[in-house]
Amino acid sequence: MPRAVRTDIVQPDGRHVYLYGDFEPAPAGYRAPAMPNGVYQRRWNPLRREWVLVAASRQARTFLPERADCPLCPSRPEHSTEIPAARFQAAVFENRFPAMVPWPPAGGLCEVVVYTDEHDGSFATLPADRLDRLAEVWTERYRELTARRGIKYVFIFENRGEQVGVTLHHPHGQIYAYPFVPPVPATELGRHAGGCLQCELVRDELTARRRVLINEAGIVAYVPESARWPYEVHVAMRAHRPALPDVLPAGRRALLAAMQRVTRAYDRLFDVPMPYMMSMHQSPAQASPQAHLHVEFYPILRDRGKLKYLAGSETGAGVFINDTLAEESADRLRSLLE
Ligand SMILES: [Zn+2]
Ligand SMILES: [Zn+2]
Ligand SMILES: [Zn+2]
Repeated sequence: MPRAVRTDIVQPDGRHVYLYGDFEPAPAGYRAPAMPNGVYQRRWNPLRREWVLVAASRQARTFLPERADCPLCPSRPEHSTEIPAARFQAAVFENRFPAMVPWPPAGGLCEVVVYTDEHDGSFATLPADRLDRLAEVWTERYRELTARRGIKYVFIFENRGEQVGVTLHHPHGQIYAYPFVPPVPATELGRHAGGCLQCELVRDELTARRRVLINEAGIVAYVPESARWPYEVHVAMRAHRPALPDVLPAGRRALLAAMQRVTRAYDRLFDVPMPYMMSMHQSPAQASPQAHLHVEFYPILRDRGKLKYLAGSETGAGVFINDTLAEESADRLRSLLE
């Protein structure tokens, strides 16, 4: 697929909207929603040595609107949404209820990635052409945001399902561009002295075979031996590639296709749309040749109707308790792959 043509629109409150591919302009009388006032800070916790983001406007966020009021759908004459277009393929916009704003002291950026203009469905049900476009959108956003002054880490992720706090059902994900390298990727990157540990893990999983779900087109998906979540799955490039732009377009398509197969298996697991968090770990903005592009899925159901909670041990002590065996989870998920 050729690189998607992008159209840039700046809303009256200064927020950018990027439309990818063909689109139909907004209907006459379009009124852009405006960002509410808020307090945005980052505060340092010296004991844990970690940043906390303060975003004291988010309480006004749109919460599970009726379908007709969806802010991620195309705009109609009687309904102006976040997207100033009557039809579009994929869109990215700066979040109106961000966790960080580009100016100090927060100094970061939050974008919403709308996968499609169709309200119904999910990442799991995106048609192949939308999935391919999403691969290019993620790559382009990663490339552009890592080049911004002050940005240290670009985090592509998706929260799916009301149980993980999703307030909009329209298929979408998010990108946070942090002014620091967050602790989880920082810890992973710190473990690579003397060769890439992720390369080693992939090799070990392929040798053991027991927990591997997919090994195709340069992509390996597996339930990690030390999974924290029941049915946790990691999807990694088999070859060492630090970030999306280091992968050829066909490889990026293969990565997203494997991710989609995993999410489809999740939805079959308990015959309900599986609520999950998806995290993409790649190189920080200051390119690290040691980073190894991979995606981690944390599904939060441990059984039909049973949520895995982050309780005392997980939250207060940092010790996860997993009541499933990674090997059995892998068998079960493998049998559900198409
Ligand atoms: Zn919608
Ligand atoms: Zn590697
Ligand atoms: Zn990781």
